[in-house]
Amino acid sequence: MEVIRSATEMQARALAYKKEGKSIGFVPTMGSLHKGHLSLIDLIKEQCDLLLLSIYVNPTQFGVGEDFDRYPRDLDKDLEMCRTRGVDLVFAPESSEIYQTDASTFVIEDTVGKGLCGTARPNHFRGVATVCAKLFNICMPKVVVLGQKDAQQVVVLKRMIRDLHFPIKVVVGPILREPDGLAMSSRNAYLQTKQREDALLVYQSLQAAHKLVEEKGSNNVDRVKAEVLNVLKGGRHLRVNYVEVVDRESMRPETEIVTDRSMLAVAVWVDQVRLIDNLCF
Ligand code: AMP
Repeated sequence: MEVIRSATEMQARALAYKKEGKSIGFVPTMGSLHKGHLSLIDLIKEQCDLLLLSIYVNPTQFGVGEDFDRYPRDLDKDLEMCRTRGVDLVFAPESSEIYQTDASTFVIEDTVGKGLCGTARPNHFRGVATVCAKLFNICMPKVVVLGQKDAQQVVVLKRMIRDLHFPIKVVVGPILREPDGLAMSSRNAYLQTKQREDALLVYQSLQAAHKLVEEKGSNNVDRVKAEVLNVLKGGRHLRVNYVEVVDRESMRPETEIVTDRSMLAVAVWVDQVRLIDNLCF
C-alpha cells in the first residue's frame, strides 16, 4: 500500500491511472478509522481497479469553538487498518497541500444543506463541499462511497456532484453500529462511560420511533418526534440539538411519515460531544 502526501503527486498519479484505463474508487475520511469507514471500502472493491482512501481533517468544516484541534488523529493506526483491509493507496495531505493561505474559492450548496446540521453548524457544509470538490479534482475517482450515517452530507454531495458535473458515481453505505446499537463514529472516542450510556439513548430513541411506525402503524410526525424526545430526556448528559422528520432526498420537513421517503434525523450533545444518527422509514 502506498501513501501519498502531496496533492500534485496524487493528481499526477490519478491522471496516470486514468490513462491506463484504470478506475479509481474513493473513500474520503477524516481518519481515526473504525469499522464503519472500512465497511465502505468493501462496497466498491468489485467495481474499481484501485481503492483509494483519503485521510484529512478538514479545518473549514469545523466552526469556531468546535473540536478541530482535539479531533482524534492516529495516522499510523489508520494506515495499518487500511493495509489489512486491502486499500491500494492512501492520500493523507497536510493542510498546506489543500488550502492556499489566501484561498478565496469555496463551494456552497444552497438548498439541501440549509436545515438540520446546516442550521446547527452554519459553515459546515460549505467546508464539506469545498474539500470534497478539491479531493475529487485531485483524486479523480470514478466511484465515491459515502456513509448514510451522515445522511445530509450524502444529499449535499450528490447535489454538488450533479450541479457541478463531476463524472462520479456515488455509492451510499449503511450505518455500521456497535453491538449495542450506537452508531460508529470517530467522536465516540471522546465518550466516558456515563456519557456513552446516554449516547446509546439516541439509538434507542430511533428504535422507539421505528416501533411506533412499523409495528403500530403511526405516520404522525409529531407523535414520533415526541416519542424520540421522551427517550432522549432520560439522559442526564444529553441535550437535544434537533429531532426532525424530513424527506430524505430534499431534506424538507415532512408533514406525515411516508415509507421509502421519510427519514428521522437526530442530533444531540452528550456534554461537549455532538453526535448524529438517523433512521429511514
Ligand atoms: P468521517 O471520517 O467522519 O468524515 O467519515 C468518513 C465517511 O465514513 C463518511 O462518508 C461517513 O458518512 C462514513 N461513516 C462514518 N461513520 C460511519 C458508520 N458508522 N457507518 C458507515 N459509514 C460511516
